[in-house]
Amino acid sequence: MRWSYSASRSFRQCQRQWFFKNIVANAKAKDPFRRRAYLLGKLQSISAWRGRIVDDVISNTIIPSLKRGACITLNVAKNRARDLFDRQLAYAKRHPITDSGLQVSKEGDDFTLLHPMEYEGKLLDHEIERAWCEIETALVNLFSLDVVKHILKSSDYVVSQRALQFPLMDDVTVLAYPDAIAFRSDAPPVIIDWKVHTFGTNDAWLQLAVYAIALSRCKPHSDFPDGFELQPQELTLYEVQLLTNVVRQHSLEEEQIIEAEEYMIDSAYEIACLTEGKKYVDLRVDDFRSAVHAETCKRCAFRAICWEESHVHRNELFSH
Ligand code: SF4
Repeated sequence: MRWSYSASRSFRQCQRQWFFKNIVANAKAKDPFRRRAYLLGKLQSISAWRGRIVDDVISNTIIPSLKRGACITLNVAKNRARDLFDRQLAYAKRHPITDSGLQVSKEGDDFTLLHPMEYEGKLLDHEIERAWCEIETALVNLFSLDVVKHILKSSDYVVSQRALQFPLMDDVTVLAYPDAIAFRSDAPPVIIDWKVHTFGTNDAWLQLAVYAIALSRCKPHSDFPDGFELQPQELTLYEVQLLTNVVRQHSLEEEQIIEAEEYMIDSAYEIACLTEGKKYVDLRVDDFRSAVHAETCKRCAFRAICWEESHVHRNELFSH
């Protein structure tokens, strides 16, 4: 089993949601139910979509330019974001989720499925306009954050969205994708997590601690420095809230590392006890607890298939 921070959050919110995403969804399965779960799992809220566009521009335009030593302007970044935004919006409006020939891997970076298209059948103009304004704000803020500019420019090199894996316990592998890791010759690396949250009040230390532990325990990639080895407490961690322009620096104490390790083990153990290593054919949706809050179902990508199985929170949602 693969454990990730986001999967652990999903499991705690709703075990069924975790089941649909991690056990049922399968891109290659011939079973139409499993393929449907896979495509439903690709649905994004408007806010997640606009956050992903910002991540994409940072990872695929800004960081590669810095790597080449080229100068990148705010306008270039905004133009790249606008191009992605327009193409993905046009694709999302077509909403080809039921096309039998749809192959996600062949759709390129246009591929976007939005939650409101599936569940409300439309996108609201004011929400789309706000999404674009927030993308612009996030990029303007990024270019104004001296601390972040300094880290990115002074590093030897920066890798983005790199998969870090390590074995946690029997049959459980941790998988982490930090937004950016900046390697420096004169100091331990820096891990950066970009957040595009309207309120930006969530303290992301636990997520960053998981990334730090993953970087210290994973098998180094071939482009990591020679003899790469470090302890999580040596790393500097930055949570960059791009909408509120808040940068939080986290350094880990021994106690926090222990707390993060316990969180990973407790969560992985809880999931492993419920699934007992069983595969899709041996598990039933009823083995998994549904969400406690109706609001979780409202935002859930798998509502369509979940409600075919049961009527969890259905009446509560329709009465709002
Ligand atoms: S619709 Fe509700 S109960 Fe069903 S998977 Fe989603 S969050 Fe869980």
